[in-house]
Amino acid sequence: MTREKLAAVLEEIALLLELKDENPFKVRAYRHGAETVMAYDGDIVKLAEDNELEGIKGIGEALRDKLHELASTGALKFHQNLRAEFPEGLLGLFDLQGLGPKKVKALHRELGVGGVADLKAACEAGKVAGLPGFGVKTQAAILEAIAVREKFADSFLLGSVTPLVSEILDTLRMHPEISLVAVAGSFRRAKEVVHDLDFLVATKEPKLVCEDFTTLAEVESVIACGETKASVRLKNGIQCDLRAVSNKQFPFALQYFSGSKEHNVALRGIALKKGLSLNEYGYTAVEGSARKTDVPDEIHDEREIYKVLGLSFIEPELRENRGEIEAAAEHKLPRLIELANLRGTFHNHTTASDGHHTLEEMTEEAMELGLEYLGISDHSKSMVVANGLDEERLAAQVAQIRKLNREFSHFRLFAGTEVDILKDGTLDFDDGVLASLDYCVASVHTSFHLPEKEMTRRICRAMENPHVTMLGHLTGRLLLKREAYAVDHAMVIDCAAETRTIIELNCNPQRLDMDWRWWKRAKDKGVLCSINPDAHSREGLHYLGLGVRMARKGWLAKADVLNARKTAEIEAFLKKSKAMR
Ligand SMILES: [Zn+2]
Ligand SMILES: [Zn+2]
Repeated sequence: MTREKLAAVLEEIALLLELKDENPFKVRAYRHGAETVMAYDGDIVKLAEDNELEGIKGIGEALRDKLHELASTGALKFHQNLRAEFPEGLLGLFDLQGLGPKKVKALHRELGVGGVADLKAACEAGKVAGLPGFGVKTQAAILEAIAVREKFADSFLLGSVTPLVSEILDTLRMHPEISLVAVAGSFRRAKEVVHDLDFLVATKEPKLVCEDFTTLAEVESVIACGETKASVRLKNGIQCDLRAVSNKQFPFALQYFSGSKEHNVALRGIALKKGLSLNEYGYTAVEGSARKTDVPDEIHDEREIYKVLGLSFIEPELRENRGEIEAAAEHKLPRLIELANLRGTFHNHTTASDGHHTLEEMTEEAMELGLEYLGISDHSKSMVVANGLDEERLAAQVAQIRKLNREFSHFRLFAGTEVDILKDGTLDFDDGVLASLDYCVASVHTSFHLPEKEMTRRICRAMENPHVTMLGHLTGRLLLKREAYAVDHAMVIDCAAETRTIIELNCNPQRLDMDWRWWKRAKDKGVLCSINPDAHSREGLHYLGLGVRMARKGWLAKADVLNARKTAEIEAFLKKSKAMR
């Protein structure tokens, strides 16, 4: 049982109760309970298991018993009974952008819609438009949302499958017949979205290991199970393959199955020129080839595979055939940034706006993570839905930060804001207010439908403001949910270089924005990156690890990343005006 699972069940109960027209206070109690479970500072799962939730604010008696039952038995009768009252596919409707309980309820009651397939048919027959409160426009929007969902049916966020992958790796590592374990494929290359998971093991008992793999706790169904290969579908819907090889084959199989296809094709081309054929089992000499290249008798790791071809080792994140092979041939690959290089982070929220934890709690978490500084950037006043701060509340927060700083000996808080970039590119705070802060993140949160030229101009205008330190989530995309708005990346990067504005790599798993494909260009133009978790809770700060993986994928080294610098360097950097940096 995990915190996420507890919260997800409470969330689902709230939805189901809403569908049943239950008392809104009751619905709110479950929703609030889910938030409390997520935000609780302590081992809530253990407390629930031990029936020791009494006294926790936000969890009443009824919820207490249900959480205990859920945590101790793995299921909740009340929840299962509720579910049984509705068609199984009905909850799937909530995943569609724009569909809330009211609409789902109407679709179910009036048209008997029980799932996405029903809904699609009803829309196509024009029945949805006729429902009160729907209309032709809504019907079209629903069809659009269904199309987006179909497009992403087999897509999963890198960030959301990461805990699952670690769990499976840990389990495989404990298997007595397995000597080596790795995850390969697009997950290893840190693609922001993955379609399946590829595990690789070295063993002398491949068949047995394959069979055991199909009985993992996470498995929903078995697709295939053979002598050296097994395929399963996990409970979250992702397909997961295992390949069992010998110790000797392991490095070659790891290299091969890590891909990308394009990278491997290019690599095999180089091998052929050297008279070698390279596949998932090893190197073999090409018969009749004039060239003879020495291959060591034993190859123990991937590094040696690349070495045979005269290449530096290429980190998996770079293997996309986007220039890494040429750079490896010249031994000019950058030394990529690592999580341990990060010393702090900017762009984080607190309960002052829409965060779940207080300034003190966020500070505590940053300290526990071993960070030396933390930047606080709550929303600005026009973000009413996110409880944005006005000038007065911002000034109070700055005063609180200055006061806390006097108490710290080895930690530093930086006072900032995530200021809204208004429709015309001006900012939500006056320059005088921005000047009173240590730094400023500027982000777009509204008017996403501007034409590309206008959007680009809007963002560049914001960056031209001398008080704007960095640009937040450049494209506004939410992976698998909301497309990026139209914006000219190349022009924004040029403008950032000219105005010495930092661009953030937002490491929220849904954002990962600016996209990794643009970072090398930014780096070559001298634009600095700030790896920012956009944390709205203590847990949110942990996204830094994911951010580092994306930064690596974007070719970034320690020197390219602002928050790899020491506190004193940051202080000096922020004190200088943008023009002087
Ligand atoms: Zn934002
Ligand atoms: Zn934010």
